[in-house]
Amino acid sequence: MEQPTPDVADWTWVLDRPCPDCGYVATDFDRIELGGKIRANAASWRQLLGMGDIVTVRPPVPAGASPVWSALEYGAHVRDVHQLYRERFELMLKQDGAAFANWNQDETAIESAYHRDDPAAVAYALAVKAGQLADLLDRLNADEWERTGHRSDGASFTVESMGRYLLHDVVHHVWDVRKGYEAITAESA
Ligand SMILES: [Zn+2]
Repeated sequence: MEQPTPDVADWTWVLDRPCPDCGYVATDFDRIELGGKIRANAASWRQLLGMGDIVTVRPPVPAGASPVWSALEYGAHVRDVHQLYRERFELMLKQDGAAFANWNQDETAIESAYHRDDPAAVAYALAVKAGQLADLLDRLNADEWERTGHRSDGASFTVESMGRYLLHDVVHHVWDVRKGYEAITAESA
């Protein structure tokens, strides 16, 4: 099965300016709202992954363009994003200036065979992982929000900025899936 082209773009700009695609603004809410927003996003995924056969369909793309993930594949990715970021937050809380290993999300998708996952199981696991991460954020004190870490590409984060960065990722993918559903529906109409 042909896989999407790896997304190597650096998305850290989204902490400074609104996302022109999904409309996310990283700075227009208080950090204590992050946990609740992550839970609300997980509820959107439960709805999107409960829509029947369309969840396994990849949207149509122009000839020669790279394939786009199905809702199921995006959902499995978001499940793993929540797991990965919870591990990163735990590391930041334990170590000063924690260093994160690189994560190639497209290789993970291929190795984990996201397209063969069960949509209901993915929706459930996504909600569990999102809830665990939200619980961790809900319990942070003022010092913990300011703890730091950095990626292997040199980008530096605090717990707070990484939380705002992570929320964009999962919000943006809801936008991706809704756009994909529109394209699939338009093609079959
Ligand atoms: Zn976005």
